[in-house]
Amino acid sequence: MPSNKPTLEDAHKKIKEELNKLIESHRIEHDVFYQALEEVLFSIAPLYLADEKYAKHNIIRRLANPDRIIKFKVEWMNDKNEIRVNTGYRVQFNNSLGPYKGGLRFHPSVNEGILKFLGFEQILKNALTGLPIGGGKGGSDFDPKGKSDFEVMKFCTSFMRELHKYIGPRMDVPAGDIGVGAREIGYLFAEYKRITTTFDGVLTGKPLFFGGSLGRTEATGYGVVYFTEAMLETEKKEGLEGKTCTVSGAGNVALYTIEKLYQQGAIPVTCTDSKGTIYDARGVDLEYLKDLKFNRRGSLEEYVSKHPEAIYIPVSEYPEGGHAVWNIETYAAFPCSTQNELTEIDAKNLIKNGCVSVTEGANMPSTPEAMETLLTNKVCFGPAKAANAGGVAVSNFEMSQNASMLKWTFEEVDAKLKTTMYDICQNIADTAKEYGVEGNYVDGANIAGFKKVADVMIAEGI
Ligand code: GLU
Repeated sequence: MPSNKPTLEDAHKKIKEELNKLIESHRIEHDVFYQALEEVLFSIAPLYLADEKYAKHNIIRRLANPDRIIKFKVEWMNDKNEIRVNTGYRVQFNNSLGPYKGGLRFHPSVNEGILKFLGFEQILKNALTGLPIGGGKGGSDFDPKGKSDFEVMKFCTSFMRELHKYIGPRMDVPAGDIGVGAREIGYLFAEYKRITTTFDGVLTGKPLFFGGSLGRTEATGYGVVYFTEAMLETEKKEGLEGKTCTVSGAGNVALYTIEKLYQQGAIPVTCTDSKGTIYDARGVDLEYLKDLKFNRRGSLEEYVSKHPEAIYIPVSEYPEGGHAVWNIETYAAFPCSTQNELTEIDAKNLIKNGCVSVTEGANMPSTPEAMETLLTNKVCFGPAKAANAGGVAVSNFEMSQNASMLKWTFEEVDAKLKTTMYDICQNIADTAKEYGVEGNYVDGANIAGFKKVADVMIAEGI
């Protein structure tokens, strides 16, 4: 007699129906938010199948909708005394586990869809850290590139004039992301303090001399490498020592990934920015890059004037549908630039060039097709929401230090970061095994993160 027990196929079908309903009733477009949602929902099918309570409590529908989206106008004046107008946002997605927590992104591409994708990912990422933080994200279509310090300050001041109404150390704690570093956080924090007359941990990633934590700047990049080491160890692959590695990006995450790779004896040979790629076969010159990108905010093109033996590949010479950085021989690849920067063509090139592991430093840098290709070819794959969680974990350590009025040493923070990254890896590897998808860290991360948040939502009722 055929069994009536639902199968994984049934669960996938039900989830597909849910997704379609979500698209219709909540007018979700086929954008990056849909991409992030689809990946998570398909991953959690085994959980959905194992326990009917998730369907009964309508968790998919409830988790896919942010608690609220705050949208506001930001008026500011440039150095020519011209009035400029941008749009500011804060997506407060889910606070089941703790105050909304997540970065602010200042980039011309910012819109509601991008912030919903980032906020949604942040819920599960923050859950995976095992720390009491919910998920949120915010930002603006303001472009700090090419702006003077004074203009950035004026923009940040105006942005905070509105944002301060919705944030607080127990309510919502923003931080940095693309286009928002210590400089921007400093200006934002100062304005919050002026308006509210309170000095509290309302933003993380603050400069060291006013409330910041040692190790926060390095945390995401260092964490990415710790996670990779944990993953390679778990999968019984050789470690990073002596291995050639490729990294994309040239911002905070990329440069501190490179720094930690050097510390672990690896040879990082690339980095990229929006205009091109540097390939320096002897290993990139990190001190030069830090000065170029953090102090002078210059273009990578300049690198070859100091290092003529290195190669600069402009975007116009990238392989069709792909990126030069992923077409170079490598043991481990670290996409640390932005969403969807690693395509199916790139994934195939990585495999062809002997790549054993890919760890996502940026948020969702691999397209679904790239991820599928890497997973089916048994490349170790560390998804962003697990691998880059070190940044937000140390943000939580900054909140703890601010709340207790204490200061931890760099060594204390770094040791806690390393333990956190190893714990995340262990948790998702165990979860993947428990739900029949051993070795799949994408499904492991999605199931572990989703379950943690969903169980609280169920316990709390509506
Ligand atoms: N923007 C970072 C992320 O994507 C950090 C968030 C935070 O520290 O709150 O996780």
